[in-house]
Parts: sequence; structure tokens; C-alpha cells
Amino acid sequence: MARSGHKYIFVIGGVMSGVGKGIAISSMGLLLKSRGFSVNLVKVDPYLNVDAGTMNPTEHGEVFVLNSGLETDQDMGNYERFLNRDLGAEDYMTSGMVYQSVIARERSLGYGGKCVEAIPHVRDEILDRINAAAAHNGSKVSIIEIGGTVGDFQNELFIDAARVLKMRHPDDVLFVMVSYIPIPGTLGEMKTKPTQNAVRQLNSYGVQPEFIIARSKRSLDVKRKEKIATACSISTDHVISAPDIESIYDVPLNFEKDKLAEMLISSLKLPNKKNAGLTMWKKFVRNIKCKDIPQVNIAIIGKYFDTGDFVLSDAYLSVIEAIKFSAATLHVAPHIHWINAKDFEHGTSTAVLAKCDGIIVPGGFGESGIEGKIKTVKYARIKKIPYLGLCYGMQLLVIEYARNVAKLTGAHTTEIDSNTPHPIIAVMESQRENLAVDNYGGSMRLGTYEAILKKNTLAAASYKTKFIEERHRHRYEINPNYIPHLEKAGLVFSGTSPDGVLMEIAELPGKVHPFMLGTQFHPEFRARPLAPHPLFTAFLRAAIERRNKRTKNA
Ligand code: GLN
Repeated sequence: MARSGHKYIFVIGGVMSGVGKGIAISSMGLLLKSRGFSVNLVKVDPYLNVDAGTMNPTEHGEVFVLNSGLETDQDMGNYERFLNRDLGAEDYMTSGMVYQSVIARERSLGYGGKCVEAIPHVRDEILDRINAAAAHNGSKVSIIEIGGTVGDFQNELFIDAARVLKMRHPDDVLFVMVSYIPIPGTLGEMKTKPTQNAVRQLNSYGVQPEFIIARSKRSLDVKRKEKIATACSISTDHVISAPDIESIYDVPLNFEKDKLAEMLISSLKLPNKKNAGLTMWKKFVRNIKCKDIPQVNIAIIGKYFDTGDFVLSDAYLSVIEAIKFSAATLHVAPHIHWINAKDFEHGTSTAVLAKCDGIIVPGGFGESGIEGKIKTVKYARIKKIPYLGLCYGMQLLVIEYARNVAKLTGAHTTEIDSNTPHPIIAVMESQRENLAVDNYGGSMRLGTYEAILKKNTLAAASYKTKFIEERHRHRYEINPNYIPHLEKAGLVFSGTSPDGVLMEIAELPGKVHPFMLGTQFHPEFRARPLAPHPLFTAFLRAAIERRNKRTKNA
């Protein structure tokens, strides 16, 4: 049932969602890794979608794409960034995925005529998948995040799978609850009762947490730690204080203060190994938090912001982090301006962008905001403001160039206008078949593909290599029929698929514009704290140059 010699840490949320379970897990992973243990991080999402790809980003945040092409939850991005390692499709599962396998097996008589039930069959499928992830990575420790909060109906089967594993292998499995300790404004005092109740609820499933990571606005005092420990039957030093902090990248350093990694190692009866320390990580955190450094103003022109009365930037999480990593190495502080593309369609002048040092148009789908984004591209091109287009942002760069420079009036993407006289961006044949039968789930061009860079281009100078591998998530491509015309008009396709058919990067020559480049892929998915992405770094360098000129002229 368990992999021999393997250790499992299950992490479950208490009280409410959104308190940073993913970051807690990523941090535990980093700390165990720095102590020489091979770790894999697994995310369990209890919803019935087979993957995260069909969900609106305003609903669920960013869709993070793995090398394999699996469309996953944004937490997987955090896991990869903290571990500094690519994760596999085995490391992610949803209820939809689990049920799909069980039902497919039933349809092929895989259960030998038995009555197929949630328990044990679905539960066993969950455990098989957890072990498949461990086997695939050949790791020693799995840290598994059970999505949602204790008390949710949706995650009960996953908790039960973990319970059974613990029952059979008590020394190899432990539970951590990430809970929330509110400080109601009217009281001004930390209240532990919701956490006590959450633990009681978990107990009712037959599960006892060994650690509680207590998220709160402030650090826990000794009195609260003791109260939680006594009420929840765990030792006081296993109550870990996790106050709000300036940067998520500080969380592992904070856990070190409470000796969390040492206690996890001893609870799991793992051998003590040499701690390699976190020198590079600490240096990165110092850089990212540095205040006394020049600021660069980066505008992100998006549209997935509005949720009710709130504005969220979660849909662009990897883009923001990629900017931060490159900024940290260049010793500048990025000031991100969120601009809703729809505003440029409703009267706001693009001249507000003049105060920005760099502009990013990130990925997107559909019609809303598209003309606003095209106006942005035009402004960046004419005013020579560094521009980085990511996926849709690249397609729109090409459309704007086609319309306004190559004189292809009405040029468009067939995603929006199937009757355009100039379908500059269009679907490939295989995609046409998918769309004809409404096959939307997991059917885009997804995951890592190789590309070849052209010599003496901005792309080649940024990457400093000829071959690259980047992650994709799109259905439409630059129409090969228009390439000669666009090239003649001055656009450079500096990255192509190895067979030369698909255009992966478009840019303007350095003598025309300081930095105008778009990628059909999503470089942001491969940016890491300790390995910033070369394109983001090159883009920010250009932005810093503009900033320096602006401040000199001011
Ligand atoms: N909507 C475009 C396409 O499907 C771009 C997708 C994206 O930006 N990820 O090709």
C-alpha cells in the first residue's frame, strides 16, 4: 500500500481557504531538500474538472502548465519555484481525474464484475496515484496538499485515503494542518477556537494532526501556542507560528526559526543529514526585499481582474513572480501597474502608459479587451516603450504590425473574427477538428516544445543560446501564409519550431525599437527565484534604460 521506505506528509487546511497552504508546503519541501532529502510535492484538487484548463482565471486564478502539458493549479507553480525543479503530471490530481480513471477501468471490466464504489475503489485509485508520483520522482518524502478545507464534502475521500495509509504505516505518515487564527478587530485578541474546532472536525474523520501551522496577522504568543497544543492534543513546539510577512519567499526562513524541518525529520524517523543551508535563497530574499533601490514601472495590461467588488491579480501570478526574480538580480524594485485593457476601449487614453518603463500584455482568450490591448501595442511600438507580449500578447503584436505597418487592413485572429480579410492568426488543421466537436479540455497546444533562435536577434542575445525549450498553452498560431509579407514589412521571426513551420517569437529589429518582442509560449512558467528567466531579465534591462533616460530628462 505504501512505497517501501517512503515517507508521506499530508497537509490539510483548517478554518478557511486561501491562507497559504501551498506556500507552507513549498517551504517545507525546500527545507527538506536543503537537508539532502529528495522531495516531491503533490497537489490534490477536489473539484470535478479533470484539469484546471477549463476554468476561468477569475474563478480559480492562473492555470499553470507543466512540461507534460497538464494544465494545473497555480500552487504547482509555487512548488516548482521553491523546489527549483520541474514537476510531472503524476504530481497533480483532481477528483475529476480520479473518477475518470475509475470509470474507464470499470468500462473495460477492470474490476472483474465487482460493484464499483467510492470506498474502496476511488480511495485506492487516490493512493495509487500518490504512490505513482513518489515512484516517478524516486523521492524519499512526498508532501501532499489536500485542497480545500477540513469539513468540505469534496475532499473527504482524499482525507480518508490518507487516514488508511497512516493506519497501515503509522511511522511513515504524518498530518499537518495549516489553520487560521483570526484577530477580530472588535476584540483585538487572537482567537484559537476556530482552529480547535477544525482539529476536532479532522479528528471526527479519524485523523490527528501532528503539527499545526498557525497562520495569522501576527506571531503567536506562548499562551496561544499552549492553548492550541492542549486543546488539540499536540506538543507545544509542534504549533508553528506563521504570521503575515512581506514576502512569501521568507516563509521557509521563518519556519527555520521554529525548527520545523528538524521536527518533521524526527517525527518521520528519518536519518539526520547534513544541512546544506539556504545561502542562495537568503541572498535572493535579501535582494527581493531590498528597499533602497531604483524603481521601474511596469504596466500589465490584462482583463482577468474583476471578481465581485474585488480586484485580484492571481490570474497573472507567474508573470508577476518572473518580473520579481529578474528585478531582484538587476537590483531594481518593480512597481507593477495593473491596467484593465477594457479601459482603453472605454475612453481612457493610452497616454497614461507614458509614465511606464515597460509594458507587458500577458496571455488571454476571447474578445473582451482585445482592441484595448492592440491600442497598447501600438502605443508601445510608436513611443518605443519596451514591450513584452506573452502568447496572446505576441499574437496581438503581430496583428497590430499587420494592420498598421504591413497595411493589411482588418487583419485579425480567427479566434475573434472568422471572416477577417487577413487571418494573420489562425487555427492549425488539428485544432479545427477539436473545435468542430467542442473538444476543449486539454486539447490546446500544451506543454514544452523546442524552438530554434535566429542569430543576431534580440531573442538570441537574451537567451545566449540557439535552442530553447518553453511551455505553451494556445490554440491559434501565426498563419504561415502571411510570414513573407510580414517579414518584408520589417517584422522579425526570431524563434521558430525546429521544422520552421511555427513562429515562436516575433520581434522588431534593435535599430527600430529598444525592445519589442512577443513569444507564442509562456516564458513565465519557467522563471525561478534562483534561475530568473533570460527574456524577463532582458526586458527589464531595457525598461531600466528607459527609466534612466526618463529620470535624466525630468
Ligand atoms: N487565445 C490565444 C490562443 O488560443 C492565446 C492563448 C494564450 O494567451 N495563452 O492561441
